[in-house]
Amino acid sequence: MTQTPTLIPDILQAHDEIRAIRRDIHAHPELRFEEQRTADLVAQKLTDWGIEVHRGLGKTGLVGVLRNGDGKRSIGLRADMDALPLQEANTFGHRSTHDGKMHACGHDGHTAMLLGAARYLAKHRNFDGTVHLIFQPAEEGGGGAREMIRDGLFERFPCDAVFGMHNWPGMPAGSFGTCAGPLMASSNEFRIVIRGKGAHAAMPHNGNDPVFTAAQVVSALQGIITRNKRPIDAAVISVTQFHAGDATNIVPNEAWIGGTVRTFTLPVLDLIEQRMEAVARSVAAAFDCTIEFHFQRNYPPTVNTPAETAFAVGVAAELVGGANVDGNVEPTMGAEDFSFMLLERPGCYLFIGNGEGAHREAGHGIGPCMLHNPSYDFNDEILPVGSTFFVKLVETWLARTA
Ligand SMILES: [Zn+2]
Ligand SMILES: [Zn+2]
Repeated sequence: MTQTPTLIPDILQAHDEIRAIRRDIHAHPELRFEEQRTADLVAQKLTDWGIEVHRGLGKTGLVGVLRNGDGKRSIGLRADMDALPLQEANTFGHRSTHDGKMHACGHDGHTAMLLGAARYLAKHRNFDGTVHLIFQPAEEGGGGAREMIRDGLFERFPCDAVFGMHNWPGMPAGSFGTCAGPLMASSNEFRIVIRGKGAHAAMPHNGNDPVFTAAQVVSALQGIITRNKRPIDAAVISVTQFHAGDATNIVPNEAWIGGTVRTFTLPVLDLIEQRMEAVARSVAAAFDCTIEFHFQRNYPPTVNTPAETAFAVGVAAELVGGANVDGNVEPTMGAEDFSFMLLERPGCYLFIGNGEGAHREAGHGIGPCMLHNPSYDFNDEILPVGSTFFVKLVETWLARTA
């Protein structure tokens, strides 16, 4: 960073306290929808700070409510709490104490940054309106945001807009990046079973070979990317699984392929899903095979609304300097379930730089400090930056009018 961020002194003074919470959560990772201890800890802290707490949304999710003035205008701030099923390679003091579970995506840091903001906002209340502090479960594949919404999140806790952020390794520590429109992709998975007729491998003409047919399907699917969708629409189909057969001299009865599809818009996804089934069915038919087509939509694309993105970029630039905020960051084909909240309310999702990994303490694993890597660790130095950013969002969005 080229400019020292203008951090709030009271948040800086609480750095040790918030870091201790972050490391406590890191040491006790919990998988999706099992975030009981984490939710208890968050609820306890919010209660200690005088914040009203509502639990049990999306099973283990919770919402803290802070009202000031007439409370009419509102803002939602969201953090995720879940860890990953991964064995931590780090051996430093706050390493995971739960075998096979690890905070390798930094959700421990996201939760701590929002707690840091909550602590400050409850104490100083320099805003006019209602702040909803949303702590969600199960971002990693469980759709915890969707489950909280199903449990009435936005009816019970109205939000004029919602904001959230994810730490981003490789971006300078404490810098920000986002963009209006799609920031992250939709994630979807498929499985196509190709059914033929088994035969002796020396006499394949007596059967209908599902392995050969599946290989044609794998090739043909890429034609959808290059021939069917518009070239300017980004999308990817990756066939990552191909399973068939048990012997070298037997043509099996069936084969199956599986993989992932990523798109930035739902119309492109609709097109790809429909074409995949048609192409697979036709190619299979050409070789006298049939198919069973399974397509599952997991997370929709994360689409930031322009006004709220411009607002968030402005707040970030004020905090860390315009040179440290990229408002036109390159979108990623990764996915994020904050997308469900952005389907319901306007808002913006941002990346906050986690640095290159120099922050990791002695005893970290040999791998890079990347998301979902067993050597990853959240960068505690950015805790006050993230907390101050959340606070500034609130104090600007809900600026006192009187
Ligand atoms: Zn993750
Ligand atoms: Zn994550």
